[in-house]
Amino acid sequence: MTKAALSIGSNLGNRFDYLQAAVTALAEHPSIFGLVSSSIYETKPIGGPEQDDFFNAVLVLETNLTALELLDLVQNIELAAQRKREIKWGPRTLDIDILTFGTDQISTEKLNVPHPQLSSRAFVLVPWFEIDPTAEVSGLGKLVGLVDAVSKTDVRLNSQMKLVVY
Ligand code: ATP
Ligand code: CA
Ligand code: CA
Repeated sequence: MTKAALSIGSNLGNRFDYLQAAVTALAEHPSIFGLVSSSIYETKPIGGPEQDDFFNAVLVLETNLTALELLDLVQNIELAAQRKREIKWGPRTLDIDILTFGTDQISTEKLNVPHPQLSSRAFVLVPWFEIDPTAEVSGLGKLVGLVDAVSKTDVRLNSQMKLVVY
C-alpha cells in the first residue's frame, strides 16, 4: 500500500460540485483507502489567461494502485467532469494532480512525481499542511519548511463549504 497526496482544483462551473465529485469517485474506488480531504481554499489563478478564482483542496489517501494506474484513474475522473484541455493553465472544471506517491521519484513524459511545481504553489502547500503537517516530500524535505517559505496571501480558507467523504 502506498500513501499518496493529490491536489484538486476547479474554477469553471459549479466548483464545489466538481471537487465533491472527485472526492466521491476516489473514496468509492475499491483500490483507495482512508481518504482524508482538506478544507476548501479559494485561490487566485497563477499563470494562464485572466480567469475566475479557484476552489482548491488536497487529498491524502492510501492505495494499492501503481502510480500510473492512479494517474489513469484521476484522468478518467477529470474526463467525467467534462474536463477539456484547451488553453494551457486556462480555466478548468476539474484538475487533479498527483503531488507525491510514497517516496517515489518519477520523471517520465506522462508522470512527474513529486509534482515539479509543488514547492512554489501556496494553493497546494497550505491545504496539504492542514491535513498532513508532518508530511515529507522526497527530494524537498519537510512540508512544514515548504509551506513556511511561500506567500499565502492569495489562499483564503472557505469556512462555509466542506467536502464530504462518504
Ligand atoms: P500543472 O501540471 O503545471 O499543474 P496542468 O495541471 O494544467 O499543469 P494538465 O493539462 O492537467 O496540466 O496535465 C498535462 C499532463 O501532465 C497530463 O496529461 C499528465 O500526463 C502530466 N503529468 C505529469 N506529472 C503529473 C502529475 N504528477 N499529476 C498529474 N498529471 C501529471
Ligand atoms: Ca495542475
Ligand atoms: Ca493536471
